[in-house]
Amino acid sequence: MKFASFAERAAEIEGEPADLETVALVGDLFAAAGDDLAVVARFVQGRVFPAWDERKLDVGPSTCYTAIARAAGPNVDADDVEARVAEVGEIGAVAEEYEFGGQTGLGAFGVGESGDDRTVGSVYDDLVALASTEGAGSEGAKVDRLFGLFNESEQREARYLARLVLAEMRIGVGEGTVRDAIADAFDVPVAAVERALQVSNDYGLVAETARDEGEAGIAAMELEVGRPVQPMLAQAGSASDALEDWDEAAVETKFDGARVQVHWDGDEVSVYSRNMADVTDALPEVGEFVREHCDAPAILDGEVVAVDDDGEPLPFQQVLRRFRRKHDVAQAREQVTVELRAFDCLHAGGDDLLDAALVDRHDRLRETIDAGVEDLLVTDDADAVAAHEADALAAGHEGIMLKEPGSTYSPGKRGKNWLKRKPDVETLDCVVVGAEWGEGRRANLFGTFHIAVRDGDDHLAVGKVATGVTDEELAELTGRLERHVTTESGRDVTFEPAVVFEVGYEEIQSSPTYESGYALRFPRFVGVRDDKEPTDADSLERLERLAGSQ
Ligand code: AMP
Repeated sequence: MKFASFAERAAEIEGEPADLETVALVGDLFAAAGDDLAVVARFVQGRVFPAWDERKLDVGPSTCYTAIARAAGPNVDADDVEARVAEVGEIGAVAEEYEFGGQTGLGAFGVGESGDDRTVGSVYDDLVALASTEGAGSEGAKVDRLFGLFNESEQREARYLARLVLAEMRIGVGEGTVRDAIADAFDVPVAAVERALQVSNDYGLVAETARDEGEAGIAAMELEVGRPVQPMLAQAGSASDALEDWDEAAVETKFDGARVQVHWDGDEVSVYSRNMADVTDALPEVGEFVREHCDAPAILDGEVVAVDDDGEPLPFQQVLRRFRRKHDVAQAREQVTVELRAFDCLHAGGDDLLDAALVDRHDRLRETIDAGVEDLLVTDDADAVAAHEADALAAGHEGIMLKEPGSTYSPGKRGKNWLKRKPDVETLDCVVVGAEWGEGRRANLFGTFHIAVRDGDDHLAVGKVATGVTDEELAELTGRLERHVTTESGRDVTFEPAVVFEVGYEEIQSSPTYESGYALRFPRFVGVRDDKEPTDADSLERLERLAGSQ
């Protein structure tokens, strides 16, 4: 396809406000793209390379302005171009204002195809060469090459070339439009295109396969070890959301590190970041770990965390010191140790697992890798969730993730099947006004604590706390509180106000159950406020204010 006709169609698409019409126009463009279809499917989105491809043009605005100015002639310099962009608002319209073609000099001839012969493919080849220009003097070489490209451009071509180079196409074509246009142009179901895009992460490849092999072709597309896919993402959510919507929730630790996708073909390990950048060399421990613990080829999803000498987690900032490092990796490794925490398995031993249920993928993960994988807690018990969270927080992790146990893996999707537990709202400091004796092995310990807020000299109940307390803490608290018992009836006791608990919760709800008129949802023991007297505990007024501000 001639680059000029690509530009002409791009202008038509840009001028079309209606979504459906846009899809039809993009579909027509694809149908007419011929050998250049794969490139066209990316160019319409302002992409030169597939998402999984590491190559980048690495052209900043000033390089682009310099090249445009040079192609525009001796009366224009890069500052003029920049000033016009500031006035007009974007580079495409500015590039279109100049008349190119009259200039000579390095790059004016012999780079790419000229004028009428120029195709989308030849522009792509030039951009590939541009992307591979690195090292000393590369800035000048990039300007030369871009100058050559602009110098051969008609005005409309320049409009889209400039935007492509700066990765801002602005013709109203997003991923959804391209997906629908592929389906439209080649008569294949949208869902099949969507799935093929998820497994391949490559619009060009999917477009070509849909055209050449139809629905069967795209349905047969599979994950490829070494070609990263977009990670599945999580929404904010709560334990109550999870347990209301699902029969059970799978609970995992939320590790405080950086997301990685590990590809292991049995010979080579590649590690990709959340944005699919190759970070293999920066994290040699991950490669070593996978080689040691994983025998079958696999694609693993997980988090890289920084750990101290005892293997305890360090804050996320420490991981960043390692993550994208290109130089002095060995030295950095001496300062910060990282470990892989794999939590999902997309492919194992030749099987794609995207359509398998989470619990089954987790089983495959365990079979595939024999260390560093946490047990999956699947439960319908809110207390078990809260206890897992308390443990995770106590161990220095960020919190928990809640996942739908039967859900499939949807690359790139931020859906309702993965919830990251919202961080606690502000905690409340409550007076402990009563307790219940435990049962069985814990009959000599208080199990559940009744908590209250202050209202003048009164204490008004706001809930019961049973989770987040370790056995050791229970023994200590029992010893401390026994002295303050005022009444006892069956397993229930009341205390005179003496001890203040810091309590975490998910939400404050209105409730007729407790005297305060409110109940804490999923209350969790955070600690004893030894620095506070009961008179310093939180008041009903603060509780009302917090409830109102939710
Ligand atoms: P956020 O970055 O706040 O959107 O939280 C989602 C991120 O948590 C993911 O992208 C992962 O990097 C990270 N994470 C940590 N542990 C897990 C886990 N068990 N499952 C999924 N994501 C996790």
